[in-house]
Amino acid sequence: MKFTPTGGRITLEVKHIELQQMHTQSWIRFAVIDTGIGIAPENIPKLFQPFIQIDGALNRQYAGTGLGLSLVKRMVELHGGLVGLTSELGIGSCFTIDLPCITDFPSAIIHDAIAPISEPPASASVNINSSPLVLIAEDNEANISTLTDYLEANGYRIIVAMNGEEAITLSETHQPDLILMDIQMPFMDGLSAIKLIRLNPNLADIPIIALTALAMDSDRQKCINAGANEYISKPIKLKALSQMIQSFLNP
Ligand code: MN
Repeated sequence: MKFTPTGGRITLEVKHIELQQMHTQSWIRFAVIDTGIGIAPENIPKLFQPFIQIDGALNRQYAGTGLGLSLVKRMVELHGGLVGLTSELGIGSCFTIDLPCITDFPSAIIHDAIAPISEPPASASVNINSSPLVLIAEDNEANISTLTDYLEANGYRIIVAMNGEEAITLSETHQPDLILMDIQMPFMDGLSAIKLIRLNPNLADIPIIALTALAMDSDRQKCINAGANEYISKPIKLKALSQMIQSFLNP
């Protein structure tokens, strides 16, 4: 898109192809075809090398590391695939990714692949055998993925809200067993969300652990006053958090 001027066209084509090499192989080809600036033949071999950007009038309008295509090439090759490129200066380019496609699955694999995805648990009925559901309310993506990975690995089910409003909505619809509530979040902060959650009789007893970068005693008291059961200051020590969660869920 960067290298196709306004008014140009970019097409994504996906098709099944049979290649006759040593033996017939089935492939899926993803082709991205543009009507952009095109690439001179002498530059094509350079294009998939890391940190190289072809110099040209349009290129210079855009910053970049020159890593995108070399990463694509390496990832595709790790999947046993191939990248390809045909291009003509001023006319456009066609980038292809060919991935090997296994069509004769053993029946067991097909059976697994089409097994129905289980429905999410209905909020009204609580399955006593299912693992505890933890709501993470947090606006920082890195924290979300760290907490999610760690808690899922410890057997919890996770739902994520990215601000206070979402936290309230998800608490109502999913009745989590425990809530981790970041305090500083956009739209509605954690303290306001905790107060509103506590006003709902159905949610009043859910344990809430406040997570915050603030670390003063008065901040701790603010969280408790708002209705949090406990308070953990960032950076979060995952093991301590896990122990705290367990103490609420298995008192
Ligand atoms: Mn935050």
